[in-house]
Amino acid sequence: MILDAFRLDGKVAVVTGAGRGIGKAYALALAEAGADVATVDIHAAEETCAEIQALGRKAKAYAVDLSAAEQEAEPLVGRICEDFGRLDILVNNAGIIRREPFADHSAKNWNDVLAVNLSAPFFLSQAACRRMIAQGQGGKIINIASMLSFQGGILVPGYASSKGGIKSLTMLMANELAPHRICVNAIAPGYIATDNTAPIRANPERNQAILDRIPAGRWGTPEDLKGVCVFLASPASDYMTGATVNVDGGWLAR
Ligand code: NAP
Repeated sequence: MILDAFRLDGKVAVVTGAGRGIGKAYALALAEAGADVATVDIHAAEETCAEIQALGRKAKAYAVDLSAAEQEAEPLVGRICEDFGRLDILVNNAGIIRREPFADHSAKNWNDVLAVNLSAPFFLSQAACRRMIAQGQGGKIINIASMLSFQGGILVPGYASSKGGIKSLTMLMANELAPHRICVNAIAPGYIATDNTAPIRANPERNQAILDRIPAGRWGTPEDLKGVCVFLASPASDYMTGATVNVDGGWLAR
């Protein structure tokens, strides 16, 4: 039956940035669908893990600064596979944003954002796909894009470049990993109410301008992204790879 194809029983998922916001919603969604979940965050995501365990699933928190993913990714994936026995799903969700005009944008802001938003998914996906290939049972990698994978935005050159890059990287990985039955897709959330977007919502004019442009007429919530995450992590999407899926209340259609 079709709903069975959405189930994740027996699967092991890794979700980065799972301590709060959208990443926490992804981690809980995967657990609700049956997966055990390793959370990776700069501060151990203990609260998220406790909520997953309350659902009857296994969870463990790994505290890792993903800006050092070049060194950390391989040992981290090794520890997760030791603790959970395998790895089936990776959600590269952790992300940061720095707002500063382009002309004055500091090298630190540029480098920090590229390290977490683009280099970390590159290194983690490399380490994860090697395990998935060795397991021989396929896998699912989900990257997190943005409206700024399609548009330039303002004040956020590092963020826009990282999210444009993640869309391209998703397609490249899809091409190379399809023979191993590893699907690689991206979710492009629209404007979602989290700490990441709090400064925009705190500016009444900017907030209203955004609301006026969203056909759905409201900000999205982390819960709005749970369904697409489970779909892309599950056998229901086995013939889907290389796609960036907008979940934006119609923003890009406008
Ligand atoms: P958020 O509320 O700011 O949460 C980001 C998470 O990433 C936090 O758990 C944070 O940990 C973690 N993190 C930050 N730097 C890290 C590092 N160096 N190493 C490990 N973990 C780190 O963000 P969000 O709004 O949920 O966004 C999640 C993802 O969706 C990001 O990739 C973002 O770009 C993307 N996105 C968001 C929106 C939106 O409207 N919110 C729209 C499009 C795309 P701490 O809590 O410990 O700091």
